[in-house]
Amino acid sequence: MSAVEVAVIGAGLMGAATAWALGRRGVSAALFEAREFGHTAGSSHGSARIYRRAYPDPLYLRMTGLAGELWRELELAAGASVLSTTGGLDFGRRRDPAAIAARLAEAGVPHELIPASEALRRWTGFAFDGPVTYHPEAGVVDADLAVRSMMSEAARAGVPASASTPVRRIEPLAGGGVRLHLATGGSQVAGRVVVAAGAWMSDVLGGLTPLPELTVTQQQAFHFPRRDPNTEWPVFVYKGDDTASYGLPGGRDGGPGGAIKVAEHAEGSVTTGDSRDGVVSPASRARVTDYVRRRLPGLVPEPFAEASCLYTKTANEDFVLDRVGDVVVCSPCSGHGAKFAPLIGEIAADLAMGKTPFDPRFTLAAHGVPASLS
Ligand SMILES: Cc1cc2nc3c(=O)[nH]c(=O)nc-3n(C[C@H](O)[C@H](O)[C@H](O)COP(=O)(O)OP(=O)(O)OC[C@H]3O[C@@H](n4cnc5c(N)ncnc54)[C@H](O)[C@@H]3O)c2cc1C
Repeated sequence: MSAVEVAVIGAGLMGAATAWALGRRGVSAALFEAREFGHTAGSSHGSARIYRRAYPDPLYLRMTGLAGELWRELELAAGASVLSTTGGLDFGRRRDPAAIAARLAEAGVPHELIPASEALRRWTGFAFDGPVTYHPEAGVVDADLAVRSMMSEAARAGVPASASTPVRRIEPLAGGGVRLHLATGGSQVAGRVVVAAGAWMSDVLGGLTPLPELTVTQQQAFHFPRRDPNTEWPVFVYKGDDTASYGLPGGRDGGPGGAIKVAEHAEGSVTTGDSRDGVVSPASRARVTDYVRRRLPGLVPEPFAEASCLYTKTANEDFVLDRVGDVVVCSPCSGHGAKFAPLIGEIAADLAMGKTPFDPRFTLAAHGVPASLS
């Protein structure tokens, strides 16, 4: 294979976004994916991820705006409806709707802080017992379609992608650049490599660069039928004294009746990319079903579908987006990365092309590890 400026490892949301960003800039690049495209063993499969502007943290809030613009650019380029707008609700005492509303106000994001009595009239599927923050820009990203669209735009810009081609080892070259040793035989020389390998990040890097502790957990989500298919269902984040949950229209995965995907934002069982069992936790199913019974009267409290997925978490849930030598570490999961994918692609491409990190909080140093090649 002829040498490229940048190689990308992983065709989940982040690798696909990086390939798209590099392709748009006319950078010679190539992407390698260990499994078939669109597989369900990582973090980016399925038809629904929350896109929301509501973040208590001003850095992420600003990033949602930048990502939102890029999602619309992708839709225009690919002619695909990747982000459907539904509006979003934040509620529960620990979610602190008033504080969220204040952050949205500071950032100039349209929103309303609504008392429970009015919210109950507007969204009849919910049993609110306190104030609710509503913002209309929130919605649902179709993750499968987003990956496919970014990959096809990358391909159109001349970035080849190889499926079923695991990268076994990254070898730094004496004169600069790297050689990727491919499990299928052969190798690829590149000026820089972006590693967007999700739960397999540590395996792919193989100790080449130091990493903060990345904890991989298996999570699950459940699809609950709507009692009335005409009820309006915004995406939502709930954090109360009983539990922390989120929900969203499930898209294709929600079946023809438009079931709502509901999950808990919980610890999950610690695993690895290769050893996870894919078995949905009965305890989580019971907790989420109980939540639906108590708090979401517009849903039938019996899931008709369920799926498991992997989080790759840093200790403080901040992303790792940094470069060490010719290696870019791109680990934006922690359960909330999907909404930022096209922005993460731009950031990873910037790092590969020599720009300084997007924000000091995402550097390896900020995560407590030295940024040097081992
Ligand atoms: C249940 C669940 C719900 C979520 N909900 C939301 C949400 O509502 N909103 C939101 O913003 N975010 C959400 N997220 C987070 C979001 O989905 C992730 O941040 C995102 O999918 C991470 O993508 P990734 O590309 O980093 O990882 P992945 O999608 O796992 O991609 C990594 C890829 O690297 C490949 N790979 C691994 N090793 C190699 C190798 N040696 N060679 C080549 N390729 C390799 C893998 O096969 C894989 O395809 C959720 C995550 C989960 C699990």
